[in-house]
Amino acid sequence: MISTEVRTGGQLYSVVIGAGLLATAADAIKANLPPSRCAIVSDTNVAPRFAAPVQKSLSAAGYEPVLITVPAGEQSKTLEKAGTICEEMLRAGLDRRSIVIGLGGGVIGDLSGFVAAIFERGIPHVQIPTTLLAMVDSSIGGKTGVNARAGKNLIGVVHQPTLVIDDVEILKTLPQHELSQGFGEIIKHAIIADAKMFRQLQDADLKKVDFAPLIRRNVEIKAVIIANDELDQKGKRALLNFGHTVGHGIERAVDYQGISNMKVGLSKKDRDAIIDLLQKFQLPTRLPPNFPRSKIFDALRFDKKFERGQIRFVVTPKIGSAHLSPDVTIDDIQAAVEKL
Ligand code: NAD
Repeated sequence: MISTEVRTGGQLYSVVIGAGLLATAADAIKANLPPSRCAIVSDTNVAPRFAAPVQKSLSAAGYEPVLITVPAGEQSKTLEKAGTICEEMLRAGLDRRSIVIGLGGGVIGDLSGFVAAIFERGIPHVQIPTTLLAMVDSSIGGKTGVNARAGKNLIGVVHQPTLVIDDVEILKTLPQHELSQGFGEIIKHAIIADAKMFRQLQDADLKKVDFAPLIRRNVEIKAVIIANDELDQKGKRALLNFGHTVGHGIERAVDYQGISNMKVGLSKKDRDAIIDLLQKFQLPTRLPPNFPRSKIFDALRFDKKFERGQIRFVVTPKIGSAHLSPDVTIDDIQAAVEKL
């Protein structure tokens, strides 16, 4: 087992990473939180596969777990669902001393974290992420929330977890498409912060990826970025939005290195290397010909990154570094999207 720490304004928490950690989850939790009632929030794909060992471990250690399962998928990330979970927790006798454990991908992490933040004005949240994306990205940093009809993640709160447990065994059942999504974020981290990891990914044998050290490195990259900008106010955390400003509009389908070419002179060689790496990990690099491009711009208007009409666009001048550019216009984005 390896572990690393995440430090934010007021808090320090551990991320433990290893194989087979579900069966001993309570040991790690007990080192941080005393036995109490706890809600394991999970989804219909994950709970049947992975909830039993977590429940067993918790019960044996003196915790009283109740399992709350929601339908798998983004449609469960709603205010209504968060309310239903809170009501179920109250019915099960949970109180201010209780714990919420999120067992699932980013949807469950965001939803269960939001519930932990609002239940009785805030109780501890333990994240047990089960997708690669959730391990390297969404479980770190404390952003929790649900979707609004107007757009994704528009209702939420920052509530840091008390502990994150990454069991790499879990990744074995993850569909290839979901694994690729996680690699998308890993490649993003490499582009904005770690040229060496970028080269390692270029050379990696996809069938023999050693996940534990890779996850730790990505947790560290995200931890450094959020360390001084927990509430996303100083521009530093915004670097994590590389590829997301337009990407949210088209569900993270493509990357926007075209803008970095135009604005900050990203070389053609680096640009091609990024495209090759995305393709190696089976990530799309083009929009389908008949994709409704105008819808991207409708979605952009609701994006939190458009503050006071200003776009906080992340550009990369070379692989391994990134910064915010003040002079990317909506026309630049339009031109780049046309080319995809
Ligand atoms: P997800 O939670 O929907 O999981 C993807 C699918 O995989 C689901 O059907 C799930 O049931 C299934 N699944 C999960 N683990 C599995 C496993 N081990 N084996 C088999 N199937 C499994 O999606 P995701 O990609 O993990 O997360 C996306 C969500 O994360 C979005 O809602 C996004 O907004 C959020 N997010 C949040 C942050 C943050 O900082 N809070 C960052 C990035 C993304």
